[in-house]
Amino acid sequence: MSTSPPPLPLRAIPVNQPQFRWLNVYAFDPSLSSQFEYMGLNRVSMKVPWESDETTGQDALAAGPAGEYLEVVDVDPASGCFYAPVDLNQPYLLATDGLQPSEGNPQFHQQMVYAVAMTTIGYFERALGRRALWSPRRWKEGGEGGNWHEEYVRRLRIYPHALREANAYYSPDKKALLLGYFPAPTTDIASHLPGGMVFTCLSHDVIAHETTHALLDGMHRRFIEPTNPDALAFHEAFADIVALFQHFSLPEVLRNQIAKTRGDLASENLLAQLAQEFGQATGLHGALRDALGGSDPSSGRWETATADPALIQSVMEPHARGSILVAAVFDAFLTIYKSRTADLLRIATGGSGVLPQGQLHPDLVNRLADEAAKTAQHVLTICIRALDYCPPVDVYFGDYLRAVITSDYDLVRDDDLSYRVAFVDAFRRHGVYPLHARSLSVDSLLWRAWMSSQECASCAPTRVCRSLGRPCRGMTSGRYFWLKQHKMHYMFSLRCPVSHP
Ligand SMILES: [Zn+2]
Repeated sequence: MSTSPPPLPLRAIPVNQPQFRWLNVYAFDPSLSSQFEYMGLNRVSMKVPWESDETTGQDALAAGPAGEYLEVVDVDPASGCFYAPVDLNQPYLLATDGLQPSEGNPQFHQQMVYAVAMTTIGYFERALGRRALWSPRRWKEGGEGGNWHEEYVRRLRIYPHALREANAYYSPDKKALLLGYFPAPTTDIASHLPGGMVFTCLSHDVIAHETTHALLDGMHRRFIEPTNPDALAFHEAFADIVALFQHFSLPEVLRNQIAKTRGDLASENLLAQLAQEFGQATGLHGALRDALGGSDPSSGRWETATADPALIQSVMEPHARGSILVAAVFDAFLTIYKSRTADLLRIATGGSGVLPQGQLHPDLVNRLADEAAKTAQHVLTICIRALDYCPPVDVYFGDYLRAVITSDYDLVRDDDLSYRVAFVDAFRRHGVYPLHARSLSVDSLLWRAWMSSQECASCAPTRVCRSLGRPCRGMTSGRYFWLKQHKMHYMFSLRCPVSHP
């Protein structure tokens, strides 16, 4: 009789904590999944940082999901319903990149808002090189005349089913994103199911847009004050810019749209459009906003919008005015993309640069998509980094142009590919000029530095801000703004990299 050998003792194999988790989301929103042309593109997996406690190293993402930056709270006040929170650490979900996209599963809604908001936070942190912070909670003690107090806000709350209406917004008071849902109208039955439920928490663009409002409020708390026509419009524009350029980080979508437009990203394409389903369901016959054009209400056909520098004088509604800034930034992106791909097109066409009829070669599509993705990443990083160079109050679009130019100049002294000129030129075409600028040369648009030391006042207590005549504690360098229209100095500063007690 033979006996089998005793089993070898199991030894624990050390496995490192992963850096990321993959989570399924809609690339745009559920409406594209019911269109044959796009259904294969609309389900993508996003790479989201694996959250762990910095001191203990333990996993830090709880059911909700609730992590270091975000807490998803799924209560529906209209129905009085609490939906069970999804646990993304559940083994089956870890093995399948989370739940599959579904309009009818509230736990997928929770997963999607978490994944898209975390990705948006990641863009800010990479561009700025530091942690993103939410704006603090402020209150006044003892009524009028009392002292203001501030409290650190660790997590932004996201309510995926907060409102039963066609709306979604960031609440600076609640430190929360409130996302609504509503039945689609019974008109325009060709574009959507009459009475079908539209969830803004399933729109990639809406989540990215609202998260950006919260991140911008964390950096510039006074940008929500309507001190001039550009101030609120800047908030809307910036939220759209971040949402738009995130489209270029989805490789399948990008390749599909490059192939469809034959590399011409100035023609109608999904990458330049925001919130298709929301736009259709609110009677716009197309996306909510489009950086390139829009549907003609009479014919229903999409038409390119030509830059009109006079619009800035007459359009005052914040979203519409913000669209002017979005169009200017997208225009700069297109100029840079065309410049970066001109050689590829010459190689592909024997030097003529004119593509023959028919579909593009897949290799050319891949190379154009690579260039578009890199350009979009550059432009988005330039746009986010410029926030550190904006005046802390009363921002004008022209101030933002100066901030873009100065922040890029500080990082990259030689502008080989003329990115800065592309921005100035695009803003000029849309009538956006800095106030009191003497010329549009890049040199004359630079903000002047007021302190260039690499040490802050705490490291070198004798350093004094030259414009204000007092020390600037904890700051390393910055610029001041002499805003003529207010006859006041505003200063902003970059944080000292040394931590101070
Ligand atoms: Zn908004």
